[in-house]
Amino acid sequence: MAPHREEDRHAFYAGKSQPSGSAGTFETIDPSTGQSAGTIHISSAGSIDKAIQSAQSAFPSWSATPPIERTRILQRAVALLREKNDELAKIETLDTGKPFSETSTVDIVTGADVLEYFANLVSSGGLNGESFRLRPTAWVYTSKEPLGVCAAIGAWNYPIQIALWKSAPCLAAGNCMVYKPSEFTPLHAQYLASIYKEAGVPDGVFNVVYGAGDVGARLTSHPAIAKVSFTGQVSTGKKVAGSAAGGMKYVTMELGGKSPLVVLPDADVDQAVDGAMLANFFSTGQVCTNGTRVFVPRSMKAEFERILLGKIQYVRAGDLHDPATNFGPLSSKAHYEKVLSYIRHGADVDKAKMLCGGPRQPANLPQSLKQGYWVEPTVFTDCTDDMKIVKEEIFGPVMSILPYDTVEEAVKRANTTELGLAAGVFGKDVNECHRVVGQLEAGITWVNTWGESPAEMAVGGWKQSGLGVENGRRGLEAWVRNKSTLVEMGGSVPTVFSKL
Ligand code: NAD
Repeated sequence: MAPHREEDRHAFYAGKSQPSGSAGTFETIDPSTGQSAGTIHISSAGSIDKAIQSAQSAFPSWSATPPIERTRILQRAVALLREKNDELAKIETLDTGKPFSETSTVDIVTGADVLEYFANLVSSGGLNGESFRLRPTAWVYTSKEPLGVCAAIGAWNYPIQIALWKSAPCLAAGNCMVYKPSEFTPLHAQYLASIYKEAGVPDGVFNVVYGAGDVGARLTSHPAIAKVSFTGQVSTGKKVAGSAAGGMKYVTMELGGKSPLVVLPDADVDQAVDGAMLANFFSTGQVCTNGTRVFVPRSMKAEFERILLGKIQYVRAGDLHDPATNFGPLSSKAHYEKVLSYIRHGADVDKAKMLCGGPRQPANLPQSLKQGYWVEPTVFTDCTDDMKIVKEEIFGPVMSILPYDTVEEAVKRANTTELGLAAGVFGKDVNECHRVVGQLEAGITWVNTWGESPAEMAVGGWKQSGLGVENGRRGLEAWVRNKSTLVEMGGSVPTVFSKL
């Protein structure tokens, strides 16, 4: 059977796909087989400008549409996303290599939830300002005003979820958007643009451009862009934030992590192992909030490793459409080579002890998948804080176990990093869990679980892991600016320029 190919992708603006103004093409690859899944036309400078102009033209009317009417339109998009869940999940599986068991239950669902949340929030007072009497003759009122045309730049690991986490609050607040998906996973963007259109989002409110860093850089430096919402690596985020700062643009930065998972001495070991596996092998380790530094009490280490080795067989690589498969390939050849080089470095240079896995494909992969970018779930143990595999974000299925002697020592070591995206603790004494989690320097923390990120929960990194938050009530604030108005009713202006 010939591999499935999607139709060519062109910039989408003014409500339709615009097959002109291409600055070359590239292929998007199915990482499970290494075969092309579609041709993407890189948006030329001219078509990027037209996409921005289309958003500018749509802004006056969309921002003036009462929030409750915007809500009705966005709710129709939520319904369409849910109706088309499996169709969209198949596209995400093709583009990212994640198993269908995952994309069909997480990627679109968590995106649609966020759209529903922000649509509801703006029609139920989320955009209300405040008003107060300053003195008997004067009032102050404030309003939350949309920013204008915003740019969103996505990473490749959660394509449609990232597009929705950015466009949902953006559009709900009355802004327009130009979105650039990652060049590694661009297929979802046209589906999302079509869904917004079918739902009744006016032409020009949501636009898509395609390409790599240069296309993103043109967006971030464009004078008509009011805000840049970025998800990606710390090093890219610094460039993007620097460019946006030059134009005094608002930014949200969702960047990388090297998050600590602290297993407390009284933890249920079985539960802690489940948490650590989720925090390292879900999505083949390609989750920004992964808990890759697993701190385990030295006295518990042997039991932790024994249970982990028993459970590693439940990581099942294989046909991505088999409901039993819960582990896919890495998302691109370049990323596969990067992860392999970290695994080799861990073994050969860091001299960490390899408990399981290694730089090879999982056993029993069908012949048809052997050209894909598969790697085994890998665990290093007896790791130390100075190892490269412990210090740097690998973004693959590579867990490092770090034995510790006292909780104070574990907390100190957990915080010895420039990153601060996520952290978590496992333990039975709830007071101790709260005490320890309170000391961990991270913006997203969990107790006795890992990874859940519901629409209601604001998420964002501390330190080098980012700026601002997405989701939750605070997530809406990132897409509005404040306007304060003072009204004087006293009938005279307190001028100093009166006649003496
Ligand atoms: P990346 O930084 O390589 O690329 C991200 C996006 O930036 C892509 O669309 C890329 O084309 C674009 N880009 C590259 N150079 C640019 C420039 N100079 N100006 C503007 N845009 C530019 O990141 P990636 O490899 O796609 O994603 C993986 C990273 O994303 C990991 O570090 C992961 O932790 C992080 N991530 C963070 C979150 C979060 O919420 N904190 C979520 C998902 C992924």
